[in-house]
Amino acid sequence: MAIVAIVGRPNVGKSTLFNRLVGKRLAIVDDTPGVTRDRREGEGRIADMKFRVLDTAGFEDAYDDSLEARMRRQTERAIQEADVALLLIDARAGVTPLDEKFAALLRKGNTPVLLLANKCEGKAGQPGLLEAYSLGYGDPIPFSAEHGEGLSELYDALEPFI
Ligand code: GDP
Ligand code: MG
Repeated sequence: MAIVAIVGRPNVGKSTLFNRLVGKRLAIVDDTPGVTRDRREGEGRIADMKFRVLDTAGFEDAYDDSLEARMRRQTERAIQEADVALLLIDARAGVTPLDEKFAALLRKGNTPVLLLANKCEGKAGQPGLLEAYSLGYGDPIPFSAEHGEGLSELYDALEPFI
């Protein structure tokens, strides 16, 4: 089964997307950035499409170095395993320097990347959606993990890799 990794800086909505795709509340969602402590794995589904999905968190208690180094290590491991990576940004916050670091990190690997501009429900995400083009991954998919918007676009984008 194809493996889909959900990556991005803390608080962009990775675990919310994981929960929506997996359909069980396996990952902890909290307003505290990076609150999910372990990597989560489950069977994701969109309509008839099935895949394994990895949620990344950014914390690994075993390592005593910087948060950024831990995030980098966990993300690298997930994308090495994955057939495709979903890079999430928070469209309401716009593109941050940390988003740019994740984008640069993914460019070093060979894993195909789909860019999701999350939190795009309503109008608040529009500026961030435009900014997302600057990350160099082509058309961002407007998405709302919380409201389930953008799933059919995600389905179409994922289909070649599943
Ligand atoms: P993670 O750190 O990337 O795993 O992010 P979480 O999934 O824990 O979400 C961080 C915060 O963003 C939580 O308060 C979520 O409820 C919120 N969130 C996630 N997806 C959306 C969305 O589509 N729209 C909005 N407005 N908030 C969202
Ligand atoms: Mg999380």
